[in-house]
Amino acid sequence: MSLDAGDNLKQNEIDIDIPQAEEFPQYLCKTCGRCCKSITTSYSYEELKQMNDEGEPEAKVFIEFFKPYPSIEEARKVVPEQVEQVLNTLKERNVDIDKVTFFYCPYISDKNLCSKYETRPSCCSRAPRHGWSLMPPGCGFEGWQFEQREKHKKLIRSLKEYLYVVENLSQDGRVPGRDLTIDELRKNIEEKIKPWERFGSMFW
Ligand code: SF4
Ligand code: SF4
Repeated sequence: MSLDAGDNLKQNEIDIDIPQAEEFPQYLCKTCGRCCKSITTSYSYEELKQMNDEGEPEAKVFIEFFKPYPSIEEARKVVPEQVEQVLNTLKERNVDIDKVTFFYCPYISDKNLCSKYETRPSCCSRAPRHGWSLMPPGCGFEGWQFEQREKHKKLIRSLKEYLYVVENLSQDGRVPGRDLTIDELRKNIEEKIKPWERFGSMFW
């Protein structure tokens, strides 16, 4: 996991990576099966089909692997708390709820085990992707996600503090001891922080 700010700041490239697959604590899954029965995306089913026709790989997974519920109400019967959570979150992001489609995966067994485990899509093998992934309430990864959120906040805070200190120490517009200008460093750090803005990184 590249979450150690100290190590990263020794390099010209500053990485903020999600944990690597080999470190992923798969054992935390309680095999409740709800995440396999409440899959969604902010794209409509029609948009997904079009994206699939255009060769978009993630749309291909939705079209080929997952099956759409006939309506949100049908999905609500199976995974009510997750449907509620997802809809509330999408509303907050001003997503048009009318075009939201919930999907289920037909490859989940009666015991909530994946019958395609070895060849399951990457979105399955690495879920939750990060601390802010919207998992069903009570998911076994809740504690892990909390830990991930705190680590990301700490790292981003460290990057901001590092930039602040270096900006104030520099007398020639360059990062002391590194082949890098302050502007390059700032741009680098801003790019790393930007993907997390939707989770509030500007306030960390
Ligand atoms: S919702 Fe969480 S605990 Fe349940 S199957 Fe999915 S990952 Fe496992
Ligand atoms: S492929 Fe397996 S892990 Fe992925 S949604 Fe289907 S049952 Fe769940």
